[in-house]
Amino acid sequence: MENGACKIPINVNFHVPEKVSRKTGQDSTKVNVGQVEIGGSRIVVIAGPCAVESREQLFETARSVKDGGAQILRGGAFKPRSSPYKFQGMGEEGLNLLREVRNETGLPFVTEVMDTRQVELVAEYADMLQIGSRNMQNYPLLKEAGMCRKPVLLKRGMMATIEEFLLAAEYILNQGNDQVVLCERGIRTFETSTRNTLDLSAVPMLKSLTHLPVFIDPSHGTGLRWMVPAMAKAAVAVGADGLMMEVHYKPEEALCDGYQSLDQPEFHQLMIDLGKVAQAVGRSI
Ligand code: PEP
Ligand code: MN
Repeated sequence: MENGACKIPINVNFHVPEKVSRKTGQDSTKVNVGQVEIGGSRIVVIAGPCAVESREQLFETARSVKDGGAQILRGGAFKPRSSPYKFQGMGEEGLNLLREVRNETGLPFVTEVMDTRQVELVAEYADMLQIGSRNMQNYPLLKEAGMCRKPVLLKRGMMATIEEFLLAAEYILNQGNDQVVLCERGIRTFETSTRNTLDLSAVPMLKSLTHLPVFIDPSHGTGLRWMVPAMAKAAVAVGADGLMMEVHYKPEEALCDGYQSLDQPEFHQLMIDLGKVAQAVGRSI
């Protein structure tokens, strides 16, 4: 069993697309983001604010997540907001701040690209492109990201099946880019007590069907700050290769997703706890 992949051939009622498919005995793909390797025995944590909001917010949060052991910084400069009247992100100014904070901390960063017209610009700055849930089936965007030769974090569409998720990743690989990380971030179900229903069973399923690394985002997956640590630990236990989590230096003042963002002490404590879970499942963090 390699990092959660099932040894027994599993039967699914669809055809697993050719390039993402894990062939018998095939090693998992390693995805390199700056100096960070994703997909090995070490679990990688991506942390940072939902959105880049200001220099102070980004620098304070980035320094703190680095201290806690995060290896990659997150922060949206272009934000897909449900309401057009809410904060839409700082745009290129946000990308500049991310670049500056990378220079100071050495943390590579991932940031979202929402439109084919932004790919070139975002790729100039970012170490990894994020394609968000709402764009998982934006096929021109997937192709453009596949052509730009930067690693891609592909988030599962909130209404997408595992088959559709894998087909979306296949679009990127088809352009010659196999540096793709799949991220489960919760799906829409009839349940309303959580923002989304975090599908942890997607981890062993995906690990068995594909050679690509699999991440969990417990922040969007629950929408509840207090529940994030429990689901993050569970994600490590079921074999995730990494976690993406929202952390804010002042969650109450966040312009976006503060209610699901950990504060800095919570993040530090969680990283300690995750170390123990990782060790229990034969991994490190
Ligand atoms: C995000 O990670 O900032 C985000 C918007 O997530 P999702 O696309 O999963 O909603
Ligand atoms: Mn968010």
